[in-house]
Amino acid sequence: MSPFKSALASTLIYVVFGALWILYSDRFLEGFVDSTETLTQMQTYKGWFFVFVTGLLFLYLMYNALTRERKLHERDELTELLNRTMFRDEVNNWIRHYHHDAKPFLIALINVDNFRTINHSAGHQSGDQLLKSIAALLEERYAHSPCLIARTGGDEFAIAMYTDNGLEACIEDIREIQRKINELQVLSMPNFRTKVGIGIAVFPDDASDVKSLLSATNIALEEAKELGQGQLRLYDHMFGESVHNRLQLSQDLQQALNNRELYVVYQPQFDARSLKITGIEALLRWNHPELGPIRPDIFIPLAEQQGLIGQITDFVCQLAFQELHDSGLFQTYVPRLSINVSALDFERSGCTEAFQQRFSHLDDWSFVQLELTETAIMENYENTRQVLDELRQAKVQVSIDDFGTGYSSLNLLRRLPVNEVKIERSFIRDIPRSDESNSIVRTIIAMARSLRLRVIAEGVETPAQVRFLQEEQCDELQGFYLSKPMRIDALGAFCKSYVPEKIAQHTL
Ligand code: C2E
Ligand code: CA
Repeated sequence: MSPFKSALASTLIYVVFGALWILYSDRFLEGFVDSTETLTQMQTYKGWFFVFVTGLLFLYLMYNALTRERKLHERDELTELLNRTMFRDEVNNWIRHYHHDAKPFLIALINVDNFRTINHSAGHQSGDQLLKSIAALLEERYAHSPCLIARTGGDEFAIAMYTDNGLEACIEDIREIQRKINELQVLSMPNFRTKVGIGIAVFPDDASDVKSLLSATNIALEEAKELGQGQLRLYDHMFGESVHNRLQLSQDLQQALNNRELYVVYQPQFDARSLKITGIEALLRWNHPELGPIRPDIFIPLAEQQGLIGQITDFVCQLAFQELHDSGLFQTYVPRLSINVSALDFERSGCTEAFQQRFSHLDDWSFVQLELTETAIMENYENTRQVLDELRQAKVQVSIDDFGTGYSSLNLLRRLPVNEVKIERSFIRDIPRSDESNSIVRTIIAMARSLRLRVIAEGVETPAQVRFLQEEQCDELQGFYLSKPMRIDALGAFCKSYVPEKIAQHTL
């Protein structure tokens, strides 16, 4: 109905009601009141009653009209999500209510990488279509939870969500959305891969007012963009405070390599059936003398940026082989060592020789397994495949890390010299509760089987997950439930006292 018609309809209802009131209310009163004095008094009350009722009616109509108008102003026209101003206001409300019900929350800013290219190459219509699809994805995912979703700029979206289920779970959730956005197609650019950068800041840890919180989120997003496309970064005070700190940290990393502030922890991997140890993964740690422990997902990208990744890989290989050798675990308790490598390890000339050099003192190279992500392989496919081919001929094993998060087609996978795929932690997290995760995990296992690849699940945290993966015939397991990453001494003690049957009994 047009605004005029609906206003006319309401007015007509009012006029009819008013006319009936005037016509019949006096007669009604006269019907049962005899005294003229009482009648006059009742008529006064009647007048007040009329004013009160019409006042309420007026309030109702005004409220409806103003709410509708506000909605028009608070929504972004294209996507119908909240706009920037409203998002800010609502976040501010959350902050004000914080002291009453003490709920921390996070803000994630999502920015489409290369949006300008999409607009230029495929036209604005395609760009708009992509923005609408992203909005639809976000709405579908968060419509039923108390989240705020907004379009805060041309190619920028924002989410605010409570972190009741733990920060890590929320971040995994956002990573999942990031992956789904990456799968979106751009009209008339079938080969284009949509990628989004994401910056996250947490209230009240990172900032306690709306302005600083949004600025922290922006810094985290900038950080993500600087690291390349499709990155996700958490606001980090030491990064956020100034670029100076970041430069300082890069310099510190170089020193850390020389000063032995870096060390390696080892996380065992287990056969899913017998629960015997099948191997270990080496994970690098940095204990900064002033800032304390720094997460590898912060310093590894920094090392990549600084061209230090080759030295890092050298360092991990050298230290891990030496520690395993010295502790007597080498090839006895530990049948295989997995080392994480980066896409950049395959980029420089002479990288095959660099790997050969790292393993030159080993008699049997099948002891070593390189873990590299699907995305890393795809970044430089031909070169990586060639290097891997040569290493495979020398019996080095290859595992595809975070499997399921990239785009490798079955065909490309078949052409790669790979021994193992590692199912990404976020898929394992929700099994066996989520049908979707269950079927993803089943599909990956079936696919790995058909390609005759070993399949390992990472991030196994509960006995229920172990049982599910055993039933689905996953080959190997890794995760906190079975063992956390530990330093060499603790690893030695663990391996020597480990009794698979005990864990098997607990898991039943
Ligand atoms: P990744 O290769 O996916 O490593 C597995 C990460 O999951 C490790 O985090 C490990 O501590 C964690 N993890 C293992 N089991 C569980 C579990 O049950 N639950 C949960 N929530 N987490 C679990 P970490 O050590 O912080 O490493 C993060 C990433 O840093 C690694 O991811 C890897 O990509 C990178 N990285 C670590 N060390 C190296 C290295 O030496 N070289 C390179 N290039 N990258 C490294
Ligand atoms: Ca890994």
